Amino acid sequence: MLLDSLKADLAELDAQSLRRVRRSLDTPCGPHARVDGRDMLAFCSNDYLGLAAEPELAAALKAGADRWGSGSGASHLVSGHYTVHDELERRLAAFVGCERALYLSTGFMANSGVIPALVGRGDAIFADRLNHASLVDGALLSRADLHRYPHADLSALERALAASTAKRKLIVTDSVFSMDGDVAPLAELLALADRFDAWLMVDDAHGFGVLGPDGRGALREAGLASWRLVYVGTLGKAAGVSGAFIAGHADVVEWLMQKARTYIFTTGAPPALATALLKSLELIEHGAERRRHLAALIEQLHAELKLRRWQLMPSRTPIQPVVIGDNAETVAAARALWDAGLWVPAIRPPTVPQGSARLRISLTAAHTHQDVERLVTALMQLERAA
Ligand SMILES: *Cc1c(COP(=O)(O)O)cnc(C)c1O
Repeated sequence: MLLDSLKADLAELDAQSLRRVRRSLDTPCGPHARVDGRDMLAFCSNDYLGLAAEPELAAALKAGADRWGSGSGASHLVSGHYTVHDELERRLAAFVGCERALYLSTGFMANSGVIPALVGRGDAIFADRLNHASLVDGALLSRADLHRYPHADLSALERALAASTAKRKLIVTDSVFSMDGDVAPLAELLALADRFDAWLMVDDAHGFGVLGPDGRGALREAGLASWRLVYVGTLGKAAGVSGAFIAGHADVVEWLMQKARTYIFTTGAPPALATALLKSLELIEHGAERRRHLAALIEQLHAELKLRRWQLMPSRTPIQPVVIGDNAETVAAARALWDAGLWVPAIRPPTVPQGSARLRISLTAAHTHQDVERLVTALMQLERAA
């Protein structure tokens, strides 16, 4: 019986302590949250600039709803595309320094749509082993050969590219890796793409709004521009709203609009979101103070958190993992923090390699120095007691 076997599979998740549960928040996104009836200080969100609950942004969303209503009514290529979407795409392209941009409903859809539109059977994809799940799924959907190279290992990538006889090649990488917080060697990756005539797709989900001049993202930080670059920015993290965009050479973006199935066969995102996103772009562009504060919090964490056995990874981004190693010890640490009113997620294999279970701290501009101090004190006490 299908249902019995599914029930057994669920029980197996329980047996391995792998069943996920959701926590329900009763307050807007922010460091101080009421979670399952408890007041918590949270270090979990990707709201890096603290914009998700920003009143100016909520006001823009309301104004957008007043102007455009609630729904788009159709897919973009039928009748669900509005002038405010055009304006948003123009502003996004200019902001990241690309010729053209295409706005999609989510980053998952952008990634799983772009890859099959660029490569197919007989082609090859070269992907960093730590890439986001949506990039892995996009690669599988494309039916191209998938080579996963060890994390940031440029010589392994070079060997794989040199050995490939594929007609078309695509290198795919996260800019900021979501479980480690490190930044991909983008200039070196582009040099390899040039040498082996490959596309280079960069998923800047954790860099857009945070890295580069005025938060223009990882490519602008690295000073890179090329028709080979396919940039994906997401708009539900630092931008504080929802959605994603693809940016690059105008012909590439035109092709993606023609072929990306996750763009074509889905209802256009509500135009009111585009109104809110225009405001968000303005807040990001003028967000120097937020980024400066965020950088100061990261610096504070590294200066004050003195660990002996556990290890704060050398990340310069808002993703600040503390590697504990052992699964049970990591879960116990997250539980003890929770009991002390601090919400930090425990990340275990298979999300991270065996033996590298960790607490994944995310800092945002909405945190205060006192918030970080509280976390530091709790972590140092815990390690000593463990
Ligand atoms: C969050 C994330 C995505 C997915 O973006 P959504 O807009 O949340 O669907 C893609 N890539 C990376 C690296 C991410 O962290």
